[in-house]
Amino acid sequence: MERNRAYGRLRYATDEDFREKRLAEGKLPEVKERKRLTALKSSRKKRAEDPEGYRAKKARGMRELRVKNPEFAQAQNKNTKGWAKRNPGAVKVGKLARRAREIGAAGAFTQAEWHALLESFANTCPRCGRSDEPLTADHIVPLACGGSNDISNIQPLCRLCNCKKGTKTVRYNPWPTEGNE
Ligand SMILES: [Zn+2]
Repeated sequence: MERNRAYGRLRYATDEDFREKRLAEGKLPEVKERKRLTALKSSRKKRAEDPEGYRAKKARGMRELRVKNPEFAQAQNKNTKGWAKRNPGAVKVGKLARRAREIGAAGAFTQAEWHALLESFANTCPRCGRSDEPLTADHIVPLACGGSNDISNIQPLCRLCNCKKGTKTVRYNPWPTEGNE
């Protein structure tokens, strides 16, 4: 098996026709994709088993890489800025998660959960009924009062209503609320 693989690698490196054929068959990208998925699965498993350890290890590795290679750090800074512009939703979720971690709140919600929640509220602020404003993630029980960062403690509110709610604990039903129709 290992010999076959070595032979394949050698032939792939030296035989152009062979390379073309393999590429045309789409076999190589497939292998890469399979490897990528296996790696993804294993890193997801590690993350699920020990989220804090996984995060700390990743951050440590990245810091070392950035120190060792300033050019990489610079390119990464540029990339991150572009990515942040293209993914404002993910940035918000990340910022909330970070704040929750700093406070020591339990739980974390994903962007997919946030989008599903927005949909269940029909992208409408449940406090004022506006749907033309971007909605922000409000903690029903505020983090400062020991609330968690789990999706069960999140509701979408427009920025103004989020401000007005402040540190009160209020759970809103999707608009139009009962008796409000
Ligand atoms: Zn509102």
